[in-house]
Amino acid sequence: MPKYKRILLKLSGESLMGSQEYGIDQQRLQEYASQIKEIAQMGVQVAIVIGGGNIFRGLSGAAKGFDRVKGDQMGILATVINSLALNSALQALDIKSKVLTAIRMEPVGEFYSKDKAVELLEKGEVVIFSAGTGNPYFTTDTGSSLRGIEIEADVMLKGTRVDGIYTADPEKDPSAEKFDSISFDEIYNRGLKVMDLTATTMCKENNLPIVVFNMDETGNLKKVLSGEKIGTLVHL
Ligand code: UDP
Repeated sequence: MPKYKRILLKLSGESLMGSQEYGIDQQRLQEYASQIKEIAQMGVQVAIVIGGGNIFRGLSGAAKGFDRVKGDQMGILATVINSLALNSALQALDIKSKVLTAIRMEPVGEFYSKDKAVELLEKGEVVIFSAGTGNPYFTTDTGSSLRGIEIEADVMLKGTRVDGIYTADPEKDPSAEKFDSISFDEIYNRGLKVMDLTATTMCKENNLPIVVFNMDETGNLKKVLSGEKIGTLVHL
């Protein structure tokens, strides 16, 4: 029996770059799709939100002189591009999946509603929520908190390139120690940068636990669903 029945998997756009400087690394995309296939075959209901940082971020656009709202809309479109890529990679592995969009753009994807998403999940299809929240000044972390809460997911799995939450950035500070679990309040008190505060607060207020784990190590997603204690659990 999988540990969770319905999950919201958050993948960062940046990880999709793999070893590239920009865009989508085909090998990384296929590795993600195979990992998702493994858990879909365990009977887990899988919803996914994917970021757009490998293509465009509104904040960096604004720093270069773009209007912030237009920049965020460009970032939103980047998440749609990544969602279509993942959708296509899953279909190539015979996994049924559908892209829903937070902004109307048929026939690229169907317009999101909770009912539609839940119906697809219950039919065993993988659902990819694209275009974040559909609004500027938000991130896809907030988009995944929102969608995770809406579809009543049991957990948000935040796939990153580090294996959990540390006392400091392990890539900069060799003395940093990893937490097996941590409360939302401790994240605030220690000023840890797990997600942006809007996303973290939404999860806290609606009691959606988060597991932060290293998605770039093949097989890890299945380990989380099999109940292996990897990554860091964030709880109330
Ligand atoms: N974005 C937005 N509203 C949303 C979600 C995303 O405006 O609800 C924009 C924002 O500009 C963001 C970009 O899309 O920088 C890409 O998303 P994000 O930075 O979350 O991607 P990730 O860091 O996960 O790759």
